[in-house]
Amino acid sequence: MRRKIVAGNWKMNGSKDLAQTLVSDVRSQAASLDNGVEVVIIPPAIYVGEVAANAGDLLSVGVQNVGQWASGAYTGEISAEMARDQGCQYALVGHSERRQIFGETDEMVAEKVGRIVAGGLYAVVCVGETLEEREAGKAESVVAAQVRNGLAAVSADQWRQVVVAYEPVWAIGTGKTATAQDAQAMHASIRKVLSEIGAPADEISLLYGGSVKADNAAALFAEPDIDGGLIGGASLIAQDFISICRSVPAGT
Ligand code: PEP
Repeated sequence: MRRKIVAGNWKMNGSKDLAQTLVSDVRSQAASLDNGVEVVIIPPAIYVGEVAANAGDLLSVGVQNVGQWASGAYTGEISAEMARDQGCQYALVGHSERRQIFGETDEMVAEKVGRIVAGGLYAVVCVGETLEEREAGKAESVVAAQVRNGLAAVSADQWRQVVVAYEPVWAIGTGKTATAQDAQAMHASIRKVLSEIGAPADEISLLYGGSVKADNAAALFAEPDIDGGLIGGASLIAQDFISICRSVPAGT
């Protein structure tokens, strides 16, 4: 059975106060979740230690990015090992904001994935097409190339540390969501690409992200190849985030 995961990406939002109050709210409500979902909080790196200290055993913690190097003269960067040292289990990589604003390429994504898995963390590898690419009928080929290139450095014994998040760029922070059918079709296509590159495709969790809210999460998570979600805006409100976590069906 694949792991079910709901991860909240705070982006460059939050405060020390939120890292205490929101995390303890989510933690206390997570105790009553009975669907086996793993709940992950991904705050700005500066708050990771605070979140990890408040997360207890019920929540996992992640960083939004790591550098592609082990250590050294890279001012402003943090390494996968540092994230683990601060209590993280997860690291996002290749988020579309990193790709678009910070020029992160597939090659950089592949290097970062290598560092993340070698550092003992789960890599949540984000892929997704722009609106222009979708309208040109290129969505599947663009996403397939991101999956192939971004996962090029994963070795056979590291696949269990890989999670893929499909996030159509046009759906992130826009209030527009892919229909459950379109998201399912892309997830099935990603799973096919994973098996073509030698990954144990049926064991890899695939998350959907892009304006997931409490009122659309259940329809998305009911699809057979959608194993949870990567949540931006709605992860900043404890009640909304926990409702999304509750929307994961049990025992599938
Ligand atoms: C995200 O940042 O990964 C995301 C999916 O954001 P939102 O849920 O706000 O669209």
